[in-house]
Order: sequence, then C-alpha cells, then structure tokens
Amino acid sequence: MDFVEQLKSNVDIAQVVGEYVRLRKSGPSRLVGLCPFHTEKTPSFGVNVAHQFYKCFGCGAGGDVIKFVMEIEGFSFWEALKSLAERHGIPLPKRSDYADEDTRLRAVLHDMHEVAQKAFRAALESPAGSEARRYLQQRGVRPEVAEEFGLGFADKSGQFLVRRLREREYSEPQMESSGLVRKRAEGEGFYDNFRGRLMFPIHNESGKLVGFAGRSLSDEDEPKYLNSPSTSIYQKSSVVYNIHRARSGIRQADFSILVEGYMDVIGLHGAGVGQAVASCGTALTSQQVRLLRRHSGNIVVNFDPDDAGAAAAERSVQMLLEESAHVRVLELEEGLDPDEYVRKFGSDRYRARLAKAPRYFVWLADRARRRFDMRAAEGRVAGFQFLLPAIQRIPDKIERAAVANDVAAYLGVEPGLVLDQFRKAAAERKEKSIPAPRAEMPAREKILLRCLVESAEARAAVLPRLSPPLLEKMAARKILEAILVLGDRFQFAALDARLADADKDLLAGLLLVDELGEEQISVNQAIACLDRLEEEHRAAARAALKADVRAAEQAGDFQQAIRLTLELEQLGHG
Ligand SMILES: [Zn+2]
Repeated sequence: MDFVEQLKSNVDIAQVVGEYVRLRKSGPSRLVGLCPFHTEKTPSFGVNVAHQFYKCFGCGAGGDVIKFVMEIEGFSFWEALKSLAERHGIPLPKRSDYADEDTRLRAVLHDMHEVAQKAFRAALESPAGSEARRYLQQRGVRPEVAEEFGLGFADKSGQFLVRRLREREYSEPQMESSGLVRKRAEGEGFYDNFRGRLMFPIHNESGKLVGFAGRSLSDEDEPKYLNSPSTSIYQKSSVVYNIHRARSGIRQADFSILVEGYMDVIGLHGAGVGQAVASCGTALTSQQVRLLRRHSGNIVVNFDPDDAGAAAAERSVQMLLEESAHVRVLELEEGLDPDEYVRKFGSDRYRARLAKAPRYFVWLADRARRRFDMRAAEGRVAGFQFLLPAIQRIPDKIERAAVANDVAAYLGVEPGLVLDQFRKAAAERKEKSIPAPRAEMPAREKILLRCLVESAEARAAVLPRLSPPLLEKMAARKILEAILVLGDRFQFAALDARLADADKDLLAGLLLVDELGEEQISVNQAIACLDRLEEEHRAAARAALKADVRAAEQAGDFQQAIRLTLELEQLGHG
C-alpha cells in the first residue's frame, strides 16, 4: 500500500477534524458542524466517517483528511502528511519524495525556532537570566508554569542567537528568512532580533513553534513587546496565542476567554483557568475569530479595565460580532487585569465573575451611559447611535431587533427611533444549510447508489445488470458509470476522484444528508430498486415505441409500423 493510503487508513477523519471544529453526530457515520472555512450560523459542513471525507455545502470546501489539514493549517501536502503521521505515530518515508522547496525552507525555519527556544530556555536558567527570573517571580509565575509555556530569555549581546545558528551552519538566506536575526544595514553579518527580553514562544493551532514575542525588561527598551516579523511559518493575523493548549478546554466549557496579554493567559492558566487566549500583538482579526469560533461560538472578552483596554475591547467586540460570535464582556473590579485578579482573589472568585459576565450590549450601554449625558434626550440618542454599529453587526435579524429594543429601553430612547435607524441600514446575510441531493434524482436511484457505495455484495449483484440504455436515463448515470469502471477496485476515494464537481456534490449530499434514514440498506432493497428501474425503463421504451408505431401508421409507412410492432412484442408486457 502506498504511504498516503496507509496513513489515511490509520487516521480517523472525525477525530482530526474534531480537533478544529465542534462536531455533532447526525447519524452513526455522519457528523455536522460549523464550517471552519467560511462564516456561518447554521452548519453546512459535514463529515462522513465511513468514507472518510468532509464537505461544506456553503463554500464548497471538501476532500479527504489530508486536504483538510492542508487547508486548515495552510500546510503543503508534505507538511500535512508529516503532521498527521507524527500525531499518529506512523513512520514517514523520505521527505524528498514529497517536499517542494518552500516546504523544505519551512521545515528549516521550524528547526531554527526549536534551536532558539532551547537557547532562550537555557539562558533564563543561567546567571544572565536573573533579571527575567526576578520579573517572573514578581508576577507570580511559578517555575513549572514558566517551563510549561517555554518562557525564556534573550541575551543583550546581540550575538547570542546568531552564534548558535552559525554553529549549526544555517545558510545566510535561511538566517534572513527566519525572523530570528537581522542582517546589518551596514557591514557584514547578523545580529539578534530579540535582545534583553523575556521570551514567549508562539505556537500555531497544532502546537508547532512558529514565532516569539519578547517583553522588554527595562522601561527604556521600546517597544514593550516585540513580535517576530511575518515569515513563511508565522503570520500574526492568523495566530491566536495559547490556542493549542486551550482548545480542548474551550470545546468542553463551550466558551473561550479573550484576554489582552501573554501574562494574562499564563496567569489564568497557572490558576487553573485553561480557556484563555490572546491575539498576538495585533488588533483582533477575522481569521483569529474564525479560529476561536471553530471551537466555541461563545467568547468572553476580558481586557484591562483602563481606557486603552476598554477601547481595545470595543474594537474586538465589533470584530467578534461581525463574525457572528456570542460575546460577553467581563470587567473586573478594582481596575485589575485578569492576571492580577486571580492572584489577588483566586480562581474560584474569577470563575464566579466569569459566569456572571454580561452580554456585550449591556457593557457597551454602560460605556455609552458614562460617555454621554443621559439626562438629555440628545445625549440618549447619541448614546444609542454609539451602540448602533455594534447592534447592526448581529447577523440574525430577530436577535438584532430584540437587542436594539433592550438597549433602547435601557438608555430611555423612543422605540420609534430604533425602527427608523434600522430601516436606514438593513443588511442581510444569507445562510445555506446542507441541501438535500438534487431533487431530480429519484429515491430509487438514491437507495441504489448508497447501497452500491456501501456494499460489495450489492455491487456484485447490481453492476452486471446496469446496461448502457438503462444508465442513459438515470440522474446518477455518471457516478454509476464510474463505479462500473472501478469494478473490483472500488474505493470511495477512487470513485470521488473520478467525478466532476457537480457529481461529487451529489454523492457527498447523498452520504451526508439524513433523508434516507440511517438503517443499513439491504442488498435485497437495492435489487428491488433496480427491478423497478428496469421496469420503468421498459415501460418508457414501450411507450416510445407505441408512439413510433402510431407515427409510422399515420405516415403510411406500414412496413416500418410492422417492424416496430414486432420490437414492441419482444419487449413484452408488464
Ligand atoms: Zn464552508
């Protein structure tokens, strides 16, 4: 067996997809969930476990488990194979068989980051790291938590990492592409990108090290946080800090906690609150929200309570609403950020506050009340207008109207005004859910087709009877012909590969939609369907011949009429 086949037969697609998407069972071998590749509110994304494929009827994404990993991680074919093989303990063949140049560079960059990570770790434990250790101690980060998060220290010298990368003989272009070191503007050589900083490794969703953030340890060093530049393994806008640790907890609890800083994530994690994540040195992006939403649509925003934090929270809320997340906002008392709060009051009290976090519009309305003069009608209207953009980003019409009314009542604004404002901006988003297979495919064909895909016995009994004239009239013709061609070599993936897109959709729909029920279709049922189809075919042929006989008689071509009548006799009556 070819390696790819071997890998696919060892990997459960439901488990792999389930690491990225909340799936719910819709049948013994079928699961559905929200599509990770486009924004939607009703699931149009299905996984068929028996045939190991996924399909989205909203955006058309679909394929096998390798394709899924490629698409969701932005991996090349080789990287997807490698990642799946590693996760399942399957030995890999030689890389050169599959890898292209870009893939090889990315593999080198991953290695270089691992080298850097080890060096930073060691430096934190060394005498040079005393200042960084002291900072962590002040912030209450226990050594085992620091180790779990891989925290490290980048030396001030500027040659700390350069030296180590040189020792391993990475090439100049590799050094330049890594984002770890920089080429000198004048003169020869490189210098470290991160100097005199506490280092936070950043991982992608599957837990691979892709970049770093470095926090300065003295006030003179600007900026306070420095992130790795974009490289071919790191794009700030699509990475969410700590998602690889938090994602299973997020799925279990069915919500995530979005915080501002790395230290907040670490502080909460250290206190046993495992669902905290942060954006990496950027304003929240739609890609990051989609990543979070795949694990849970419920997101609690818990930023610093200062003005900058509140402004950032407002922007994040807008972005979250745009991506149809359910948003609550937690504002902690005494002006504390999440990390300070759990250290001061403990995680139980934090969890209690979390459970009571209000929905975002209550929080926004409170902000509006503080910002505008609520005693005057103009102030109330201005407050409402301040809230309107956030409300209008709610994609669901009914929910949007309900929220608008709640907010208006809370601010003391006339309901009529709410309606006016809404008429001005009415943008609807259309949603697609998994459609039933094309209506023109008769139920008999559907049953026959599903049985053929699922049972070798049915194929043995039915395929020899599929004659070209019979096939010609069938909606499933192309699919059945492909099954005929495959014969004994039948495999779902091989069948799928032979089909045009429309027929792929047809087949995926048939295997993902519940319409036919879940009980196994017996071979006898399939044969009964075939009998009926043949009968219908004969009846149609008879009707056509009868019409031809009549036409020949009317045209006075009696010889032709007799010939056709004999043909009709041969078809028999039924
Ligand atoms: Zn989709």
